[in-house]
Amino acid sequence: MDDWVEINRDERHIRRERARARELRNTPYYRELFRKGVCHYCGGHFPESELTLDHIVPVARGGRSTRGNLVVCCRACNQAKKFLTPAELLLRRLEAEQGESGE
Ligand SMILES: [Zn+2]
Repeated sequence: MDDWVEINRDERHIRRERARARELRNTPYYRELFRKGVCHYCGGHFPESELTLDHIVPVARGGRSTRGNLVVCCRACNQAKKFLTPAELLLRRLEAEQGESGE
């Protein structure tokens, strides 16, 4: 599955943006988000240890470590998302809904 997805293999981009994400993790802005503990995707509350920093547009898809693209989310949401872009996630959700009601 997902073999139609184009993955960015630029290791330098990936390494640079991951390092930048680790730096941002320790800025007051993100420390505050971790302290609040609200998942960007499901809206649930979690202890800081259950939260991760996630790129909305994955680094492997050309996403960058900026405030607009880096959000705090729970591990379950991070796992479910993997390397898909927001548009692809929406598409999947629609497909899943159609599959449920269509048969
Ligand atoms: Zn979540």
